Amino acid sequence: MNVSREARVCVFGDLLYDCFVWADRLPRVGETVTGFRNGFFAGGKGGNQAVAAARLGARTTMLGKIGRDSHGEFLRGSLRESHIEDAGVLSDSEHPTGTCCVHVDRKGDNAIIVVPLANESISADDTDRMIPFIRDADVFLCQLQTNLDAVERCLRAARDAGVMTVLNPAPAKPGAEQLFHLADYITPNETEAESFSRCPQGTLGLDDWCGQSAAVLLRQGARRVVITLGKQGSYYSDGAEALRMPPFPVDAVDSTAAGDAFNAAFAIQMALGAGIGEAMRYANAAGAVAASRHGSRPSLPTREDVLALMARAEQPRSTGGTR
Ligand code: ADP
Repeated sequence: MNVSREARVCVFGDLLYDCFVWADRLPRVGETVTGFRNGFFAGGKGGNQAVAAARLGARTTMLGKIGRDSHGEFLRGSLRESHIEDAGVLSDSEHPTGTCCVHVDRKGDNAIIVVPLANESISADDTDRMIPFIRDADVFLCQLQTNLDAVERCLRAARDAGVMTVLNPAPAKPGAEQLFHLADYITPNETEAESFSRCPQGTLGLDDWCGQSAAVLLRQGARRVVITLGKQGSYYSDGAEALRMPPFPVDAVDSTAAGDAFNAAFAIQMALGAGIGEAMRYANAAGAVAASRHGSRPSLPTREDVLALMARAEQPRSTGGTR
């Protein structure tokens, strides 16, 4: 791994104003419940992955769309606080900033409504303005929480410029398989892999299920598949080589944003020329640190946090091999 160089990461994705409310229980239809706490946060998978990349030491550019409103300014300010280049975050005069409202009960169960608004109104003119930032990067990282035609234009621009591409296909959306062939790596979690491959986990062992699910994703056009497996680590297949990277043992308290930490860490390692096993190990450690902390953005680790966990943990050995 080349640690002497700073990776240049360009993240395209959603920016959401998150509103959390906590109550003893979730309201039933038509009911008003009195809660005991609230919180307002900068969120969105795209924004979280950009913050994760910046914390991990990458020179990071964010591309996306917010409204011309106070929520948008809050989100822009939060990117700037993390030293993220925001000139490619466009302000929409027609659509407001996207929001995410999360109701949480005492058990930690939640009910969420996401309203994408500006995040789903990214036009061809908008992506034209974003493309110079993509061309300037070592790696381009995106998800599916924006309009898919915009994701496709950005992925094509990255490929045309020879920039490495990582597509985190989250949330799973019908038709998004058509974008898989544009990415060097796709990084679904278990639920997304199951949803795209239609391979139910059922009675199969984990390695067999990963192998079958990844095979379908490869047939759908993916070049290389990395499936994140929560507390079970991660799995890689390119059709010739398969690898399962064990997790780092941590006291997990909240897995929110573990996937965002994983994706940012993985993209950075790829940009720096790491091998697949090395990149997955580093990304597993980043995800594990995030899972060991509460919240989403506050849980995202720095590079020092990740290296400290890797140094503490006994070196995990990969299982699997060539198929
Ligand atoms: P997502 O948040 O997208 O569902 P995952 O839950 O699969 O993603 O987590 C991403 C990565 O973070 C996993 O591949 C794993 O390496 C790490 N991770 C997540 N939860 C834990 C945990 N409880 N213990 C150790 N590592 C974890």
